[in-house]
Amino acid sequence: MKQFLIFLFTVLSITIVNAGQYTVETVPNDRLKDARDYTTNPDGIISVQAEQKINEMLAASESYATAEVAVVLLGSIGYDDIDDFATKLFKYWGIGKDKKNNGLLFLLVEDQKQMVFRTGSGVEGVFPDVILSRIIRNDISPELKNGNFDGGIVVGISKICEILKNPEVAKEIMQKEKDRENTELKNIFYTYLCIGIVIFLIFIALFMHNINSKKTNHIKCLRLRSWKGGVIGCSILFPIPMLLFLIFYFIEIKRLRNKPIACSNCGYKMRKLSEHEEDTYLTPSQQNEELFNSIDYDVWLCDNCNHKEIFPYTKRSRYTSCPHCRAKTYYLSDDRVLQRATTFSRGQGQKTYLCKNCQAKDIAKYIIPMIIISSGSSGKGGSWGGGIGGGSWGGGGTGGGGARGGW
Ligand SMILES: [Zn+2]
Ligand SMILES: [Zn+2]
Repeated sequence: MKQFLIFLFTVLSITIVNAGQYTVETVPNDRLKDARDYTTNPDGIISVQAEQKINEMLAASESYATAEVAVVLLGSIGYDDIDDFATKLFKYWGIGKDKKNNGLLFLLVEDQKQMVFRTGSGVEGVFPDVILSRIIRNDISPELKNGNFDGGIVVGISKICEILKNPEVAKEIMQKEKDRENTELKNIFYTYLCIGIVIFLIFIALFMHNINSKKTNHIKCLRLRSWKGGVIGCSILFPIPMLLFLIFYFIEIKRLRNKPIACSNCGYKMRKLSEHEEDTYLTPSQQNEELFNSIDYDVWLCDNCNHKEIFPYTKRSRYTSCPHCRAKTYYLSDDRVLQRATTFSRGQGQKTYLCKNCQAKDIAKYIIPMIIISSGSSGKGGSWGGGIGGGSWGGGGTGGGGARGGW
């Protein structure tokens, strides 16, 4: 007697825990009892009238299109993923005719507010994922949002039947979907173009501001040169219309560098010396900077009063300013590991800097941090095995095609 009570208690507690929460194995397969019952609605999510209507539509569909459509409406599947559940249920029941694989499953889970279509490989052509998504998004979801489960599901299934009856309908829907995607693409392109134009206008404004400022040509030129990264970057991202700006940009830099200037001493027009002529006016440090391509100097001379102006233009190079002679001819010539770092001790490295102008040599030692080993995580993946057909469904399989949506 005591053992019987324990047994009864266990059975009851399992029943209570699982009340209204289905697993693939416990979903009632109504079709086993009645071949014309395509709808499983154990929790009364839709009315008996709606269920009848759906069954009539699907029976008619099966008679002219041979496709098998199962509608399963469940209150809860616990925390199971609805996509996995649908694929498993499809295979467990074997929806669709055995060789044709022409099954279609519509599964709705009320507490997750989610629904999916799962197609057999034989009807993937008629029901591409785009079409099924569209039916969920445009026909079913809006009704479910209003609490009209009867209306939403009947409309959704009637769309399915319409396509089964006349595949041209699917083509029309596909065309509409393509049009929608094209409109979206167009909008994305226009937005992209607008951003490009805004950036272009900002650069034009900065450019005009620079031209009209009271600064010397040298300062204006340096300012333009400092935008180089931004201008080139934006020209790559937004070639229309930034490439146009890029051309003006380089022309203006060249123009500013060569535009004759007036002598600040006597007002006479100054002359820019050639690379060959200018060496006489540069210090040995400056000549070395030019030689090693770290700074380019422009020398302007007044032929009237012999006044000279020297304008430096820094170039991109490996050189930095020397802490000893200030010339931009200082560089890292060697970086070596003296002692490797291990998992239990720090290491040491040594950098050697040389100056090509004053020949200074600096050695700096530095610490290499200890190696810390972090544990990586490995990915997890899996796939469903082949399903076995059963019941009075035809024994079809699914390649996992379909669509998912919520409300
Ligand atoms: Zn002068
Ligand atoms: Zn130096």
